[in-house]
Amino acid sequence: MIPSVTDRRSRPLRDLRISLTDRCNLRCRYCMPREHFGPGHPYLEPADQLTFDEITRLARVFASLGVRKIRLTGGEPLLRRGVADLVALLAAVPGLDLAMTTNGLLLPAMAERLAKAGLRRVTVSLDSLDDTVFRALADTPVPVRRVLDGIDAAARAGLIPVKVNMVVKRGVNDGCVLPMVERFRGSGHILRFIEYMDVGATNEWQLGEVLPAAEIVRLIDDRYPLEPLGATAPGEVATRYRFRDGAGEIGVIGSVTRPFCGDCTRARLSADGKVHTCLFSSGGTDLRALLRAGASDKELRTTVGALWSAREDRYSELRGRRTRARGDRVEMSYIGG
Ligand code: SAM
Ligand code: SF4
Ligand code: SF4
Repeated sequence: MIPSVTDRRSRPLRDLRISLTDRCNLRCRYCMPREHFGPGHPYLEPADQLTFDEITRLARVFASLGVRKIRLTGGEPLLRRGVADLVALLAAVPGLDLAMTTNGLLLPAMAERLAKAGLRRVTVSLDSLDDTVFRALADTPVPVRRVLDGIDAAARAGLIPVKVNMVVKRGVNDGCVLPMVERFRGSGHILRFIEYMDVGATNEWQLGEVLPAAEIVRLIDDRYPLEPLGATAPGEVATRYRFRDGAGEIGVIGSVTRPFCGDCTRARLSADGKVHTCLFSSGGTDLRALLRAGASDKELRTTVGALWSAREDRYSELRGRRTRARGDRVEMSYIGG
């Protein structure tokens, strides 16, 4: 096993999220509110983006520092042209677990090709089964059926178990929690509830809109009794529960009320090649500049290793203390959710 570089809090570097694009075909209110992400938004140009060869080279560098899991994300990763070709390149890097997070809309057309290229698992985001709620939250005319078709396509292609991520906003879609549980219990898919987070600078997050993980669990447990499960892997962010009647499991990600910075082994690479060591960071280290200036693998490795060794991030543990103005923060759609 390759030894992993550790940061100042003894956390190894194990996971890399790679954003393939900062663009999206939805405008979820909590992520890319339309008034901030209209045509005037300074989206990256194609030439700004890392090429597939550059991404693969960096993936190898990160793997040599201990990364074992890569998740392709965005923005919407399936909007990146030729994404299956990139999956094939990354699947050839030894020892990497390769997954993707997507809104699912393009999965019916692409799941089979992605699985054949070497993608192992997929997480699909879906916040409600009710068309009215879904359309309001994702700011789209698209019906829920399209996402469900994407989930079915992923399962048919063998990208299982499919994880389904639901961001819960109090007063907006908390009434959708039980219908989601009823739809996915016993399906073999794993539903995961995510506390609404204060990422980026545009979603006007308020603490009162967070439905705490403990309340989500209570709500479900009252109707479908649950029991806790252990973590599957170090750095696992979801607290897991199984249905006592054997109908599968759920996960709850309490990013706000149960911060897991102490176990955070994750770096993020933006589509234009900046590496960030925290979801709430204000700036990244530009690896694209190094790549395009002809840096060797050893130089890239030294840069990333030094960056991780100096890492002290634990924003969620310090959230209450409000250490920084929100305006400083990069958006999740850019940095990679
Ligand atoms: N477009 C893809 C998708 O929606 O799955 C991938 C990128 S998206 C930024 C990744 C994940 O971040 C999604 O599951 C989304 O629901 C979640 N997310 C975005 N903004 C969030 C917020 N403010 N709080 C909690 N989760 C958020
Ligand atoms: Fe797009 Fe995903 Fe953000 Fe929704 S959460 S706007 S689907 S990037
Ligand atoms: Fe990791 Fe930063 Fe999130 Fe803490 S706040 S879990 S350090 S990404």
